[in-house]
Amino acid sequence: MAKIEFDAGFVEAVVFSEMWRRSGRGESRLVRSFHRELDAAYGEPPGEARDRQSRAVHAAWFSRLRLDRPVVEAASQLGLQSSRLERIFVHGVLSAHEEGADLMGMRPSAGSAEILSVVTRIRSQRYAEFDCLEGFLLHEFQLVSDLLSAGFSGARECSFPSGPARERYRLLWETHADGRLARRGLRGLRPKDEWFSLFGKGFGFLGSGYFERAFEWLWNSAALSHLQLYGAACDPRASLAEEHGSRAPGTPCPLCRFPTHVWASADVWSGRPDIRDLIQSRFAKWSPGDGACGECYERFVAVADSAAPT
Ligand SMILES: [Zn+2]
Repeated sequence: MAKIEFDAGFVEAVVFSEMWRRSGRGESRLVRSFHRELDAAYGEPPGEARDRQSRAVHAAWFSRLRLDRPVVEAASQLGLQSSRLERIFVHGVLSAHEEGADLMGMRPSAGSAEILSVVTRIRSQRYAEFDCLEGFLLHEFQLVSDLLSAGFSGARECSFPSGPARERYRLLWETHADGRLARRGLRGLRPKDEWFSLFGKGFGFLGSGYFERAFEWLWNSAALSHLQLYGAACDPRASLAEEHGSRAPGTPCPLCRFPTHVWASADVWSGRPDIRDLIQSRFAKWSPGDGACGECYERFVAVADSAAPT
């Protein structure tokens, strides 16, 4: 069970602005009672004891006003609390570009099991607009939940693409995250039309017809894997809009026959002749030039890896 912890400075900032909003809404009794408790703490001489008391007053009001709920609920919607995470730490930042959530791994000693935690950075003013806070948290926690999933195993170790492909990866992944939230009736970071317009800026070069279909595929797919997103980011034309014939988006995969928008990248076969042989053992007429959808490719990788002597 992941423990959720809030940084004391963040708690203080959130309580402070919440009191400001409540006093604007005429909840003066509640605000006065908070200030009485705070004044009592400030009756102490400056020093560690006074800081501790002030922190305790803010923490008590943070939980009394249930200001921890958005984080607790978003974490539970995405299954983070029941995951193998040790803790979810939340602290404040000042600017939007510093916001986000990162999965951090630590091994207390060589050979010991990795301890995973999430560091979430939020501007306290997000609390002023609950929808926007909730959407931000669900979006960030969806990405964290992906990193914890089997489809992303190895994603942290072998890292993400670099350069422009990295930006494309981020756009693909984040769009896909909000698409999955939308299908569950949840609001993510941005609505679909905003993602569509960002996607158009990043992938419009695929050409009309191709990029719209690629977007719909990304928005509507159940969980895509790191490998699929990686392939699409590094080689968008081959993966998302293969221009020559058989691997055009929407063309059935020769193996599973499902309409396919993301194909295993053309260069995977030379690195894994065992996968090629395994596929040919079941589909005698198939050759790497026919391609395979990302899912089929991964299925065969899983079979090959589970059969390999360890
Ligand atoms: Zn397939």
